[in-house]
Amino acid sequence: MRPPSVNDLALRIADVGLPHPLLVIAARAAIAAGDPDSAADEAHRLRRSLLGPAINATGVLLHTNLGRAPLGQQHSRAPLGQQHSRAPLGLEPDDDGPVRFSNLEFDLASGRRGSRTSHASLLLATLTGTEAALVVNNCAAAVTLVLAALARDRGVAVSRGELVEIGGGFRVPEVMEQSGARLVEVGTTNRTRAADYRAAVEQDDIALLLKVHPSNYRITGFTEEADVADLAKIGPPVVSDLGSGLLDERCPWLGTRPDWLAGEPGARQTLAAGAALVTFSGDKLMGGPQAGIICGNADLVAACASHPLMRAFRPGSLVLDALQSVALAYLRRDADAIPFWRMAKVPVDELAQRAEALGVGQPARTTALAGAGSLPGQEIPSAGIELDGDHAAALRTFDPPVIARVNEQTTVIDLRTVDPADDTVVAAAVRQALGQ
Ligand SMILES: *Cc1c(COP(=O)(O)O)cnc(C)c1O
Repeated sequence: MRPPSVNDLALRIADVGLPHPLLVIAARAAIAAGDPDSAADEAHRLRRSLLGPAINATGVLLHTNLGRAPLGQQHSRAPLGQQHSRAPLGLEPDDDGPVRFSNLEFDLASGRRGSRTSHASLLLATLTGTEAALVVNNCAAAVTLVLAALARDRGVAVSRGELVEIGGGFRVPEVMEQSGARLVEVGTTNRTRAADYRAAVEQDDIALLLKVHPSNYRITGFTEEADVADLAKIGPPVVSDLGSGLLDERCPWLGTRPDWLAGEPGARQTLAAGAALVTFSGDKLMGGPQAGIICGNADLVAACASHPLMRAFRPGSLVLDALQSVALAYLRRDADAIPFWRMAKVPVDELAQRAEALGVGQPARTTALAGAGSLPGQEIPSAGIELDGDHAAALRTFDPPVIARVNEQTTVIDLRTVDPADDTVVAAAVRQALGQ
């Protein structure tokens, strides 16, 4: 029998719900593999490779591969199931309201051009108790912009103990090089004192003293680091790259500070101690969209905002809109409106009850993690279920995929990172994976 034409085969698998050119790619792959009957499977595979929702049952709250902080109402796509196979792909409005523009760069008072970062600036500066704030695309961009705007062709003093790679290839010395600032190493790997920075300032042209939070590793034992308050007395502005971005160590949005946050520096406290600027990510402990935030002295923030690189680093309105929602929730002290904190603060007994109610697997106490390189070694008590054997691959084939973790031939499903509304989905995925 002659193989079907690519076009005929693509039309035959239209049920998968992809635009025709993508069905053609799937059909062509199936024919090339000598198995035209696999075209629908190819198309499903292609569909699942597109950006889509996933259930995070790993217990890692800020999972770098699962989009770091979870966001509410961001997944506008329908699940990928057969029953939804004709759901259109792409953005769908939240409701049937009219299509509207925004005042992204429009000053409503004067009717003239406004600034896209002014909306968030007031909110973020208020939250961190400082003068001004600027939003860019991620924290790597924030650090690069600060160094380019404030230290180009000049020295930046950094402790040898903080010349680290933070993950995803963010290496402090390389960022320095790209920004045109010159790295001046001070101290030793395990011990750096304020006097080491002071000596550098006396001998060299130092524009900034930079501190970098060694997010994903910890030096223990015979160690010493200079604190921000001591560095602030030396002279040049102190910039502290906090990375994970806990806004306030007292966690007023929770009422109390959870034990697992112990030792994590807050943006508010770092600025109050004398840092001229702090930088952090929007999608780590802040629990917002991917963004980089620069907060601090108004003149330094203004120098960053007017640097030519800002044009390349500026975020779009979707990000600024999501970040504004999160900032407003913090100002209302409404942790429940920020999915990261809502999940982080659920009492472990409540998770244990949900685990029992799943009616599948073996209920178990587990340990969750903040993730994204923040708070290494700090465990968050949690609960979920365990399954004998490695069922991770089977759970991923479910629709939506359930991502679990496997410890020595035991599959662990941690409910801390699962929205309660998804518990029935998780139970169905487990039953399917176990062939029940
Ligand atoms: C995560 C991190 C970064 C990079 O942040 P991105 O938002 O991923 O670019 C930079 N510095 C520190 C200290 C970090 O922890």
